[in-house]
Amino acid sequence: MVERADPAAIDRKWQRRWEEARVAYVDTSHGGNKFYFLNMFPYPSASRLHVGHGRNYILGDAIYRRERMAGLRAFNPMGWDAFGLPAENAAIASGVHPREYTLANIARMKEQLASLGLLYDWSKEFASCDPTYYRWNQWLFLRMWERGLAYRKTAPVNWCPGCRTVLANEQVIDGRCDRSGDLVEVRDLTQWFFRITDYAERLLSALDGLEWPERVKTMQRTWIGRSESRRFPSRSPSSRPVRTPFLAPPFWPWRRSTRRRPCSPNGRSAPRRSGSSSSASGASPGSSARPKEEKRRGSTRVSWP
Ligand SMILES: [Zn+2]
Repeated sequence: MVERADPAAIDRKWQRRWEEARVAYVDTSHGGNKFYFLNMFPYPSASRLHVGHGRNYILGDAIYRRERMAGLRAFNPMGWDAFGLPAENAAIASGVHPREYTLANIARMKEQLASLGLLYDWSKEFASCDPTYYRWNQWLFLRMWERGLAYRKTAPVNWCPGCRTVLANEQVIDGRCDRSGDLVEVRDLTQWFFRITDYAERLLSALDGLEWPERVKTMQRTWIGRSESRRFPSRSPSSRPVRTPFLAPPFWPWRRSTRRRPCSPNGRSAPRRSGSSSSASGASPGSSARPKEEKRRGSTRVSWP
């Protein structure tokens, strides 16, 4: 008689053994022969992982396991990018406190990660909504404020009346909020800004030495948004070419995006949400820091010259 294999039972058996033996636990107090592997943390704003998470974390697990098998003391931590507007909006919609909602999602997603057989050192787990973590963000912010690198000023922003929050340019599609579909308004609000222009030159020159794909480096250069003047010839009304100097930025990056071109419904110029200054207030500071792992991937970031 042929006995059928039960893969789910085999998975459970070994996953339980790994958990009991704490095979992924690493003592990080010792140096040498080490390998630190950090995948991006998922957002626990949705109640489940999706296939894209699976692809991302299974690939990461394969790299981590390869390094362990090669004899390195590999450290593979996991945490939660949990300080987000989506979780807050979902909590408002469901009437559940954001903390309760977020922690329940984390518990569910953690089970899902375990069921994929991924090995993480869960003793080092943290969530960015935890005060023991974000107190360091606050500490860093105060250091920047003391040095004049964080400042307040009034500037126009994309405002979604439905979500009652500020949106990044990328979150505005055809004048509407990409989440709620509400018509986006442009409002003048007092906001916090980081004076990243002070570092534009250093950021740009450091990009040259990075072994990143050229496409990603181009995106970074566009985000940094430094522009230099350039002279180019123009034509006179009589169509006779004349060498008239005009000053203009060297490129117009938003034209590269056809689908996600930022626009405002009332025709005012879209607010300066990225580029020479990065707003510290508003909906998604994370979106200014790095591309979102899902929908944002592949979209061209805009920068206002
Ligand atoms: Zn909205």
